Amino acid sequence: MTDILILGAGSAGCILAARLSADPACRVTLVEAGTRPTDPDIARPAMWPFLQGRPYDWDYTTVPQPGTAGRVHHWARGKALGGSSNLHAMFHVRGHAEDYEDWVAASGSQRWSYDALLPHFRATESWSCGGDDLHGDAGPMPILLPEAETHPLVRDFIAGWVAMGQPRLRDHCGRALIGTAPNALMIRDGRRITTAEAWLTPAVLARPNLTVLTGAEVHRLRLEGARVTGAELRVEGTEQVLAADRVILSLGAIGTPLLLMRSGIGDPAVLAAAGVPCRMERTELGRNLHDHMLGAGVVCRSKRPVAPSKLQVSESLSYQAEDPARTTGRPEIVVGCVVAPSVAEGVEAPAPGTGFTLLFGVTNPTSRGRLAITGPALSDAPMIDPAYLSTEHDRHLFRVALKRARAIAASPALADWVAEEVLPGPALRSDAELDAFIARVAITHHHPVATCAMGRDEAAITDADLAMRGLDNLWIVDASVIPSITAGPIHAAVMAIAESFASGFRG
Ligand code: FAD
Repeated sequence: MTDILILGAGSAGCILAARLSADPACRVTLVEAGTRPTDPDIARPAMWPFLQGRPYDWDYTTVPQPGTAGRVHHWARGKALGGSSNLHAMFHVRGHAEDYEDWVAASGSQRWSYDALLPHFRATESWSCGGDDLHGDAGPMPILLPEAETHPLVRDFIAGWVAMGQPRLRDHCGRALIGTAPNALMIRDGRRITTAEAWLTPAVLARPNLTVLTGAEVHRLRLEGARVTGAELRVEGTEQVLAADRVILSLGAIGTPLLLMRSGIGDPAVLAAAGVPCRMERTELGRNLHDHMLGAGVVCRSKRPVAPSKLQVSESLSYQAEDPARTTGRPEIVVGCVVAPSVAEGVEAPAPGTGFTLLFGVTNPTSRGRLAITGPALSDAPMIDPAYLSTEHDRHLFRVALKRARAIAASPALADWVAEEVLPGPALRSDAELDAFIARVAITHHHPVATCAMGRDEAAITDADLAMRGLDNLWIVDASVIPSITAGPIHAAVMAIAESFASGFRG
């Protein structure tokens, strides 16, 4: 019997627990700081923006960001069985095949090419419209491709882009990504489905070789030399130690590097400043942090009432190239249609039903920040610095995306909807004015990655098989290993990473 400890029961951890406990030769313990979610609002798709800040959100904050007018950004992260899949916006987008070529280049392994991941994407999914060679139809996660439910404003948004020469895509999980489609969503029978619900079914939970420990916060790893032998947990105020033959970290892009640092692994200067003795120097740990942002947004007052969404409010994304004449290949910007007035914190919005927002953003930002512990205790808040909008590449493409959002708002397709552009407002035209506006309204798209990035380089935290370099017996399987962000929301990629790892893992 091999004892496997999976730390973190989020999007990746739940998949791993189900897949690895299918082998009766493994005894799997899944450890989660949060509890089983009980809030009925989690299942209601339209409620997703209102879940943040509730007790099952870690609710991290960044340090003030020079690139966004000195603002502090709240970073929601799920703290419950299912992790951030309890909070996310449910979009299912794989990204572009070239995103995964970057992973191949970084890791030195074809394992992370789009084609090699394709069976794993398909294995996670069950599309409402059936499967084909690109889409799965027998996986645990239901994927709804909306049809009749699509809002009339969104239909006009899609038609408008088509009239402007952009492709109409069926969904964002094919080989082409440039184009517009209704957002495919992790919803079944009108309810959000988390990875906990999809993978930790009653039959899986009944397995004698699977233990799920909730309300257990992981403080540190136990090390004997370079060998990880288990973890120290805090359960209801008391310290416990769990021993294991194999340890897998799935605490997410924030939680995983924080645990490693609390365990004395990381940049010696960071550890010394936090009062943690350095046991292993890994200067890359916590570096390379990056995230998508969205401008919120081009806000329009509507000529006619905007009925509530039957889905989750943000109903369509249009991925595009900087040059609108290029309609194939990898996109550079995105414009989204939200059928409600959605704005950044501190910005006044039109009343519900009287307006809507066109979000805009950059698909593959180049700004890179870092994350660090500030003390040895679980309660010490981390230092999170995504260095938002710190490159000219990102600032330039953000302006392009804002102008593209304005273009669809001004197009004939939306003429029956747009009474006036409330934000940025017609007076703001120059690049300097647009930059200042973007800095004020850019918000997180909630996709932090790369704090334990995989790489071929010896300095990289994990190798191409997600084993942590320098330590025996430790693997990392979550959003932290993603070396560079995919063009779209990353949950589909996180599920495929977990599925690929589980298929190749020999306990
Ligand atoms: P998580 O799912 O965050 O799991 C980590 C788990 O580890 C959590 O359960 C956490 O409680 C636990 N943990 C952490 N530290 C400890 C500790 N010390 N001890 C014990 N347990 C611990 N992606 C999309 O593709 N589409 C979207 O529409 C989308 N929208 C989003 C909206 C929001 C508000 C958020 C927050 C995210 C969104 N995302 C979206 C991103 C996506 O949900 C995440 O990237 C993904 O869930 C990350 O999975 P993970 O397994 O890496 O981490």
